[in-house]
Amino acid sequence: MLFLRLTLLFAIIVAVLTPMTTLAAEQEELTTEQKYEKRLELYQKMESVTTIPWAYFAAVDTYERGLRRSQKDLPKEEGLVAIYYSEDEWAGQLNPDKKDTNPISIEFFGGVGLDGDGDGLADRTNDEDILYTFAHYLESFGFTEEDFRIALWEKYQRVQSVNITYGHAKVYQKFNTLDLDDHAFPMPLRHNFSYNNTWGDRRGWGGRRIHEGTDIFANYNVPIQATAYGVVEIKGWNSYGGWRIGIRDLDNIYHYYAHLSGFEKGIEEGSIVSPGDVIGYCGSSGYGKPGTQGKFPPHLHYGMYRDNGYTEWSFDPYPSLKNWEREARKKK
Ligand SMILES: [Zn+2]
Repeated sequence: MLFLRLTLLFAIIVAVLTPMTTLAAEQEELTTEQKYEKRLELYQKMESVTTIPWAYFAAVDTYERGLRRSQKDLPKEEGLVAIYYSEDEWAGQLNPDKKDTNPISIEFFGGVGLDGDGDGLADRTNDEDILYTFAHYLESFGFTEEDFRIALWEKYQRVQSVNITYGHAKVYQKFNTLDLDDHAFPMPLRHNFSYNNTWGDRRGWGGRRIHEGTDIFANYNVPIQATAYGVVEIKGWNSYGGWRIGIRDLDNIYHYYAHLSGFEKGIEEGSIVSPGDVIGYCGSSGYGKPGTQGKFPPHLHYGMYRDNGYTEWSFDPYPSLKNWEREARKKK
């Protein structure tokens, strides 16, 4: 009898625990490709319900995934969607139940949380509920690109956040996939080049500065390639960098290419690039008024800056460059 009871108890425990553990395991086991596939399904499902382009969901989700990685006070996302709502936002500031999932009481307390998958719960950790809640927010502004930008402005109150997210949407619309992780080395390997890790070194020109990048030395007019998928954010002259280009990728990273001798035809602010696309040519421009060149040997100054939703900071691009160079050699 006792044995039977124990067996029954054990069976119940197993039955209760099994779905949870397999669910957690399933999430862990998803490959990157599978995650992209499932995410795209979620976005497209929401597009079919709301007529809001899936790329808008992808853009905001991607932007906020980057924010979660760069802001320590933001928790890691639990599901596939990274769009973040605080408990107060979701349940309503005056809601005594911060973990409220009842759509009626959430609405009563002015929370934004909605039930997107029709299970009767508005769950702050449920991917479909989060996306549906965000879709509802976008809908209230309208369906044009301009409406999207206004909605982003209301959400982030920061021009740079609006521009980065809007750029992400453009990239997703152009390539029609989420799988855009490829990178390229900034120069074709058939050319001679050399670089060392000089990040953080002191620089003299223009006051005391530290060197925020890696210098890749090469001959004049060696083609310079985009290293990631992204949008050309800045193109033109700057007194330090000379002719320079800035490209924003989907990790919210700004790639800065300086001292160019010239730009590739057709590359303009707003252009969308793929890794390996030629954007300009190696030179020695900079350290003076527009057109100044030859004050140092020709090289590409390559910098990387991460946006965290408030500000941007430089980090050492050398490890990434080494990595991309290695990958490029493998492909050859
Ligand atoms: Zn440099």
